[in-house]
Amino acid sequence: MNRVMQAPPAPSDLLRDWLSGFGRVFVLTGAGCSTASGIPDYRDARGEWKRTPPVDFRDFVGDPLANARYWARSFVGWPMVSAAAPNDAHRALAQAAGRISRLVTQNVDGLHERAGSAGVIDLHGRIDRVVCLQCAASTPRSEMQERLADANAGWSGLVAGAAPDGDADLEGRDFSGFRVPACRACAGMLKPDVVFFGENVPRARYEAARDALRQSDALLVVGSSLMVYSGFRFARMAHEAGQPIAILSPIARSRRATCALRGSPGHCGSPPRPSAGCG
Ligand SMILES: [Zn+2]
Repeated sequence: MNRVMQAPPAPSDLLRDWLSGFGRVFVLTGAGCSTASGIPDYRDARGEWKRTPPVDFRDFVGDPLANARYWARSFVGWPMVSAAAPNDAHRALAQAAGRISRLVTQNVDGLHERAGSAGVIDLHGRIDRVVCLQCAASTPRSEMQERLADANAGWSGLVAGAAPDGDADLEGRDFSGFRVPACRACAGMLKPDVVFFGENVPRARYEAARDALRQSDALLVVGSSLMVYSGFRFARMAHEAGQPIAILSPIARSRRATCALRGSPGHCGSPPRPSAGCG
């Protein structure tokens, strides 16, 4: 069912040593931090899409078939995501809380919080919440799952290849019959409370993360290829401010991670350029 999992970033003494060189480290985590929890990554080692790119916000709100397709895949993929548990990388970061000024994640799985990290900024939102696009009411994703099951009896029990963000591979199926419930309060369109492609990270959320980085001594990137602009800009900001940067990532595990964590805290050159923007 799942793709081959990459090992999580090592929650090692190396990391602890590096962290101990600073008073307040800003930590940015990405998909590579959650792959060992069974949540696969969107991109391969070169930063290219492994599969069909996720649905675009415009299609989600403007194309009923794309909307049904999103929810059908989410419906089938949700049990896997909701069952995911924090791994060693999440736990290591939670245990290092004393050294961390702020933990900011590009992941939407909530696993840092479940591992015990406090004050996490979920840059791209949370997959375990659903928001109404009309009245902004927030409801648990688990409630939406029950409503989807009630409305689509024939789809229950389907098992598909797992994909990121609670998505599942269901190519070749007819989505036109899939029924998507609306907001109970106002009948508005419901959307997972995550930042879709084509959407921007909410400004207040971005500014809180930016301010935390400014007040930090160094930047540690864990499990992110920095291919998405929303994450890359923190690396660029730190670089421009002369803050030391370490990148610990399955994707960048080889040269860059070694380089970043070798020896005493220090600069590791310019951050890599992103190949695509996202807000
Ligand atoms: Zn509503």
